[in-house]
Amino acid sequence: MSDLSFVPAIGVTPLTDRQRHLLSIAHELGRTKFAPRAHQWDDTATFPFVNYQDLREAGLLALCIPESQGGQGADYATYCMVAAELGRFCGATALTFNMHSCSTLWIGSLAEALTMDGDQRAEHERRRDRHFARVVERGQLYAQPFSEGSAAAAGRAPFGTTARRETRDGVSGWVIDGRKIWASLSGAADYYGILCTEAIDDASTHETKPLDMRDTLYIAVPATSEGLTIEGTWDPMGMRGTVSRNITFKDVFVPDEEQLLPRGLYYRAAQTWPHMFFTLSPTYLGVANAAYDFTVKYLRGEVEGEPPVKRRQYPTKQIAVAQMRIQLEAMRSMFWRTILEAKPNPSKDERLRLYAAHYTVMEGANDIARLALRTCGGQSMLKHLPLERLYRDSRCGSLMLPWTAELCMDRIGREALYEPGEKD
Ligand SMILES: Cc1cc2nc3c(=O)[nH]c(=O)nc-3n(C[C@H](O)[C@H](O)[C@H](O)COP(=O)(O)OP(=O)(O)OC[C@H]3O[C@@H](n4cnc5c(N)ncnc54)[C@H](O)[C@@H]3O)c2cc1C
Repeated sequence: MSDLSFVPAIGVTPLTDRQRHLLSIAHELGRTKFAPRAHQWDDTATFPFVNYQDLREAGLLALCIPESQGGQGADYATYCMVAAELGRFCGATALTFNMHSCSTLWIGSLAEALTMDGDQRAEHERRRDRHFARVVERGQLYAQPFSEGSAAAAGRAPFGTTARRETRDGVSGWVIDGRKIWASLSGAADYYGILCTEAIDDASTHETKPLDMRDTLYIAVPATSEGLTIEGTWDPMGMRGTVSRNITFKDVFVPDEEQLLPRGLYYRAAQTWPHMFFTLSPTYLGVANAAYDFTVKYLRGEVEGEPPVKRRQYPTKQIAVAQMRIQLEAMRSMFWRTILEAKPNPSKDERLRLYAAHYTVMEGANDIARLALRTCGGQSMLKHLPLERLYRDSRCGSLMLPWTAELCMDRIGREALYEPGEKD
């Protein structure tokens, strides 16, 4: 049993002391600071720098960095719980926190579970420790701009952004060229952890070989790099505080030390550790909780600053709340089971459940927000209340690659009916 003074967004579950402690910090920060400020980032489509200062001071920027290296030592499941709790109070903060925290999770505990030879592991650990130190000692932020508007972020084509080996001024590294769209934390991150494809010349023709997904590289590009430009306007429907603008890389030189994973490892990680892509869903479980919590308060006539009008006595509203609660409980259960099952090479059953859980959380968040608006009624959608923002934010989850709602369905259907290698 959880002995927290609140019911966490993931529901009441058995928790470790560390999980209780971290959830309490996240809940308190969210309740007292992030929720009251959330409308501000949404109104102005600006980045919540002040929330990040709070996260920094609370030690949460280093959430997924081991304690031995100055972090909070959260494992995958703990990260998911804490992120859901933040999402309950400010979806945009939780979503960008995902990009940052997962940068450390992927190069930390996820990479630990991947096979590397001795030299590769030693080199990775040296580089990883440098990235960790930037977060722990300087509170620096990492973004994850992968999307390019092609099938690459869907995992079906190589990334068009390329990295070519080069030595400049005696330093060996990579020259990056390309363009990313939807770069959350643009203008706020200190490092942009991009996925790109190694451009390799064919020795016989001296032409670049066709790009290959197996040559995907994961590299941190410093925000101050010459040739890196953030561009485009930012005026989306939801998750406006993520400030996800476009970034172009033109002849950007990055030393080898900035590699986040060794060559070839990202591709292997994506194949063997599919739960790594589920980390977008905690934010939306949080948003779903927020819509539910608001509805209960509103129908009871208990929303601060609003007339104490009770609406709970109508059976249709009770039914809507029941529907929301049933859906929320289903989401929490699937979420909980899924985060506990995260590991390399999950079974087919676990993999199908993973896609199903992702779909259920992403689509369920929007369903709950939709029902919340319908049953709370006209006044509840006024902009001084959070519900219309939750509704807009909730719509974004299932648009996010690699696992849009459509792609989850696609994978479940195909993988349920075909064993690897089977064709018709
Ligand atoms: C609030 C928000 C924040 C985001 N932040 C980030 C971020 O920090 N980093 C990041 O990398 N991305 C981010 N994204 C982008 C997100 O992950 C997706 O990449 C983006 O929403 C895709 O938009 P699109 O119009 O290119 O998608 P789509 O056009 O739907 O997909 C792009 C391509 O994928 C393939 N594809 C899509 N659907 C299917 C299908 N059903 N079957 C087969 N192929 C398909 C197609 O080739 C298609 O052209 C964010 C998105 C949102 C909404």
